[in-house]
Amino acid sequence: MSSSDAAPTLPEVRLRDLRPAVSPVEVVARIVTADRREVTRRSDGSRRPLVSGLLSDGTATVRFTWWDPPREGLDRGAVLRAVGAEVREFRGRSELVFTWKTRIGPASGAELPAVDGDDVPQRPVRDLRAGDEGFRLEVRVVRVASRSVSVGEERRVVYDGLLADRSGPIAFSAWSDFRLGVGEAVRLAGGYVRTFRGRPQLVLDERTVVTRIDGAELPDPAELLRSPPRSIAEVEDEGGGVALAVEGIVVGLLPPSGLVYRCPTCGRSVTSGICRVHGQVEGQPDLRARLVLDDGTGAVTVNVARAETERLWGITLEEARARLRDLPDPSLLEEQLFESVFGRRLRVRGSGTKDDFGVTVFPESVERVDLDLDATADDLTARLGPGA
Ligand SMILES: [Zn+2]
Repeated sequence: MSSSDAAPTLPEVRLRDLRPAVSPVEVVARIVTADRREVTRRSDGSRRPLVSGLLSDGTATVRFTWWDPPREGLDRGAVLRAVGAEVREFRGRSELVFTWKTRIGPASGAELPAVDGDDVPQRPVRDLRAGDEGFRLEVRVVRVASRSVSVGEERRVVYDGLLADRSGPIAFSAWSDFRLGVGEAVRLAGGYVRTFRGRPQLVLDERTVVTRIDGAELPDPAELLRSPPRSIAEVEDEGGGVALAVEGIVVGLLPPSGLVYRCPTCGRSVTSGICRVHGQVEGQPDLRARLVLDDGTGAVTVNVARAETERLWGITLEEARARLRDLPDPSLLEEQLFESVFGRRLRVRGSGTKDDFGVTVFPESVERVDLDLDATADDLTARLGPGA
């Protein structure tokens, strides 16, 4: 060793390039999971704290162990720079160990290694599963919309939508503004996949690299959005979908429907002024309709939000509140809503997820399909049986 006091410069490596032969190293990575525990030393029986979990930098996800960690600053999603991390191998996979010799500090997402699209394999959308990363996609933007969310004290804009290649569509959520426009063809590298409403969702964050491409072979977004309705039985077999269309007749309305009150913080519906997460709150009035739509092969629940409920019912939230002042019983209001939608044929497009109660559709559009009234009545009678 030289007598110089200057710290040696360690190689900064991407997680997918970690090798025990090159150790120690410098890494920048995001905490994916972190579990804190204590182990008992064999030598003197004393307890020693450690945190273990997974780190990711967009190129790979690796296990880490941090001896004598700080009490704070180990939240999921936090980005760290670790200088002097040891690389070990366990069951054929490289892992990182942070010891008293490792210097660790906070870093920003922008310091994560840039993932070049050429470094990672291209994958078809259909093959993506929750937890995947280190891939690139070539996709068409089918839909994109922005919404504002609270993250702690801060308001942030999130861009949600749908991407597709020839293999199928996937929902996405972007935490940075990539100025994605409907119809654009893009190559994406550096995203990861999580589960949202029971289906894979692609997350694009500040380290994702977006490149515009020609994409002549990619599907036409209008074609995807105009896809003809499929049978409900088929949608059930597939467990829902992100760009589905179904058509059927409204045969039921499930509670809570009509005028509901929501927690101002989390949006959950409030019962007797109590949110099950936030306790006593001032409920905010809202309109919704949980419709049961039947097409003869099966039934789905359609969770219709305020704007579409107002359109279907033909009365606004304010009018519904005014009616409630005259009719003290909110179940009468629900009955009026049901009368106005019962027996209507609707075509619904949106995403659907399946649970023990069947498929629930979160619609992006609800269209009324007009048809011969006698035929509808016959159809309903045939479906529900006489006397229904
Ligand atoms: Zn709440």
